[in-house]
Amino acid sequence: MTKVLQQFLTENLSELRRQGLYNEIDKVGTPNGPIIRIHGQEQINLSSNNYLGLATDERVKAAAVEAIRNWGVGAGAVRTINGTLEVHEKLEKTLALFKGTEAVISYQSGFNCNMAAISAVMDKNDAILSDELNHASIIDGCRLSRAKIIRFSHSDMDDLYRQAKAAKESGSYNKLMVITDGVFSMDGDIAKLPQIAEIAEEYDLITYVDDAHGSGVLGKGAGTVKHFGLQEKIDFQIGTLSKAIGVVGGYVAGKKELIDWLKVRSRPFLFSTAVTPADAAAATKAIKLLMESTELFERLWKNADYLRNALKKLGFDIGRSETPITPCIIGDEKTTQIFSRRLFEEGVYAKSIVFPTVPKGTGRIRNMPTAAHTKEMLDRAVSVYEKVGKELGII
Ligand SMILES: *Cc1c(COP(=O)(O)O)cnc(C)c1O
Repeated sequence: MTKVLQQFLTENLSELRRQGLYNEIDKVGTPNGPIIRIHGQEQINLSSNNYLGLATDERVKAAAVEAIRNWGVGAGAVRTINGTLEVHEKLEKTLALFKGTEAVISYQSGFNCNMAAISAVMDKNDAILSDELNHASIIDGCRLSRAKIIRFSHSDMDDLYRQAKAAKESGSYNKLMVITDGVFSMDGDIAKLPQIAEIAEEYDLITYVDDAHGSGVLGKGAGTVKHFGLQEKIDFQIGTLSKAIGVVGGYVAGKKELIDWLKVRSRPFLFSTAVTPADAAAATKAIKLLMESTELFERLWKNADYLRNALKKLGFDIGRSETPITPCIIGDEKTTQIFSRRLFEEGVYAKSIVFPTVPKGTGRIRNMPTAAHTKEMLDRAVSVYEKVGKELGII
């Protein structure tokens, strides 16, 4: 290794380790279902995004296996050369039905999708109004576009209004866009889309909602935009196939002309190989299951409401959660980490999330109940929470 690189790595790694910020990655010895095994120990899993349990659903697995038999393991090319197999087209058609939009373009991941879509439309003569708590991939996607980034305070509609008005009246920008998460991943609160749509209308803002945590979870599964009945007002609906859908991939749902443009101008679509046939077929199957029945969706919410109420009743601070994402806000960073470790020792896997991912002094354990948890699993998790909460003087 060159000396410069060696020095850089040694200094920075030891500094991270000194601060206790070096993240050791846990190896999971089972599929990512409601019960997982880590370091040989069984854990109730409250940390996966597998909201509906579809990552391990037998029907979805069968669709993936069949696709491998019929189509092989790789797409063989980027979408714009000859990597668009019938399974990719079917996925996009099914997604458009699911979202209720004219068309859909799919990408290799949700992260990739934000890299692709923002910079295909916005450039250095434009400005983007971005919620301060937006996901890292939105922040990177905005940077890549080279547009001016104007952050507004989290879900603060007065601040958005003021800054949108100032940006519009300055006359400095060609186009303006407002971007928000549909559901915020650290707090579980829902974006104020009706007000955002109103402000967008008044100041000609292009509207962009990243609904990674909302799809499959809100609006009978179709997402946050449907939840508010705003399909006609939101230009870009971003989704991921890796959370509630249980597979991998990302997509933009919108008007046909927008999707046509993204197919010729978004770089990851043009220069990176398409998802595998198994991914495309499994995601298509999962979405079809969601369109046929609301059973999983209803079970998710029943479990989420049950866990939220139980933790609240014990006296935990669950912040502003309105969705299955249920944080337990502990506060102090050290205590939060000790709390998470004690949960692990007692058989509950729920990760601590601390500064800089969330503001200082708001360290939390983030709980993600799913449709696949049984009441007994949730009861066991709640009793561990009670034990550890009392032990550490949190409740
Ligand atoms: C998880 C997430 C992504 C990334 O999705 P992947 O498909 O995992 O790459 C993008 N945006 C938001 C808001 C997310 O929560």
